[in-house]
Amino acid sequence: MKKQILQPGRFRTTEIGIHVDVPKDTDGYIQRLCPECEELFKIKPSSLTRDPMKNIYCPYCFHESALDSYTTLGQRAYMQRTLRKIIRCNKSTSSLGSATCINPHLKGPIYDAEHTYQRVDTQIHCSTCGSDYIVYGISGICPLCGKYNGLDYLYPSLNLIESRISTLDIEEVIDYYLPDEKAHILKTALVDCVISFGAYYKYLMDFCYKQKFISGDMKNISTENLDKLRERIDKDSNISIFTNEEWIKAGSLFQKRNILVHKGGIVDEGYMKLGRDPKAELNHAIPITKAEIKFLIIFIKKLSEYLYQEYYLNHISINE
Ligand SMILES: [Zn+2]
Ligand SMILES: [Zn+2]
Repeated sequence: MKKQILQPGRFRTTEIGIHVDVPKDTDGYIQRLCPECEELFKIKPSSLTRDPMKNIYCPYCFHESALDSYTTLGQRAYMQRTLRKIIRCNKSTSSLGSATCINPHLKGPIYDAEHTYQRVDTQIHCSTCGSDYIVYGISGICPLCGKYNGLDYLYPSLNLIESRISTLDIEEVIDYYLPDEKAHILKTALVDCVISFGAYYKYLMDFCYKQKFISGDMKNISTENLDKLRERIDKDSNISIFTNEEWIKAGSLFQKRNILVHKGGIVDEGYMKLGRDPKAELNHAIPITKAEIKFLIIFIKKLSEYLYQEYYLNHISINE
């Protein structure tokens, strides 16, 4: 909403306090730019009504500072233009005289960076504070309450993958080069599952490491090979979240993703060794089945919830 409000009572001799609302998009969000990592995200101003003076957080790098410090260049330009109009208007209609002191932070090149921003966005509802916000790519924490929110991001991604494959009328694909939309959906479903979990793990561990909940070696475990993560979980906990067969099956699907991305789906020496897949034949294509993707989605959800509880929530409750 492009509205300008003059706040009476904040006038001093040489300074004017003027409130200018920055434009919202059609869904009521406003764009924010992190002053630290310079990435963009969106928040709903209605989410701020409880305490507008509270700091907000960058959902990518966890930088924390005042709401105003996340103003985008385009918003600054808009505010400058709006303020100039108000000053001109005041000069001609009031006896304020030379009203020259504008907020000194309103400087910067005049262009609307956010209007040319073309990345895919993800709308997230924070299960902790109830705020709505939008991120571009993978995020770590809620910008409004600062709580880690990886599951809020991961679950919609996995549910979307599941809904894409559930409508397919094929059960498996072998030749990945077929110009077939169905084969493509099944193939990308496996890749997307593994990528989504990798991003979730990275942000959860980065956040927990910064909070000193975990050590550096836990943070640096690569999710390309599930064996290392399994070893670590077995060491830290005396309960088994999965059977041996489930770990092996999931581990072989993670390896299958590697040959799909790097070897065109053809079994190589690495897969023969790490995949532990009795159906694998060296230099042959290996099928992906719909049932495997469904298993992997359930596995990743359970593993992610366990990591969230064990390495994040348990430490939060100890500290609080
Ligand atoms: Zn940032
Ligand atoms: Zn929140």
